[in-house]
Amino acid sequence: MTLIVHAVRDVLLVPRCAGCGEPGAWFCVACRDLCEPLSLPGDIPVRGAGAHAGPLRTAIHRFKYGGERGLADDLGSLLALEVARDLAQGVAIDAVVPVPLHRSRAASRGYDQATLLASAVASRTGLPLRVTLRRVRYGRPQVELDRAARAANVRGAFIGEAASLRRLAVALVDDVATTGATIADAAAAARAAGARSVRAYVVAVDE
Ligand SMILES: [Zn+2]
Repeated sequence: MTLIVHAVRDVLLVPRCAGCGEPGAWFCVACRDLCEPLSLPGDIPVRGAGAHAGPLRTAIHRFKYGGERGLADDLGSLLALEVARDLAQGVAIDAVVPVPLHRSRAASRGYDQATLLASAVASRTGLPLRVTLRRVRYGRPQVELDRAARAANVRGAFIGEAASLRRLAVALVDDVATTGATIADAAAAARAAGARSVRAYVVAVDE
């Protein structure tokens, strides 16, 4: 009986790394060390904590589709490192803004992964969190579309509360960037809401 209680407790309470299965963390230090930060070319500076491959890809998949919201803090800490590095180099960032899911999708998933990540980044960097963008078009899941269709799928997908980001240098936060089309669209909405500059941080860049 005691053994069973312990086994159940272990399954429930001890996190296992989503990347390699080792107990002790949602995404362990060894897997984090495998991530090599990279940038996505384009008009908006997009920094990724790693390539969308290997343990990082597995962890993101479990975070998005496996209900493992505990991963937000460990994956968010990877993003916070990139943000802190830029801050240390004099890059202006006034607020952290998630690139949100559509409400109906967030409701069916039980959480919005970008908002959880952005919240982790804000608490680790001390920057304010501004949840001011809203996804107004549902769109088909990006994963079902090819690259050209992905770009078309997100046009005009976001709106920002008027003047909510007035004069702020904004750091957008999302889980994965592929073409940068979603980021570009969210950036346009952030500018329309008054942002003076926009850059983005994603956990992984799809190459
Ligand atoms: Zn690991």
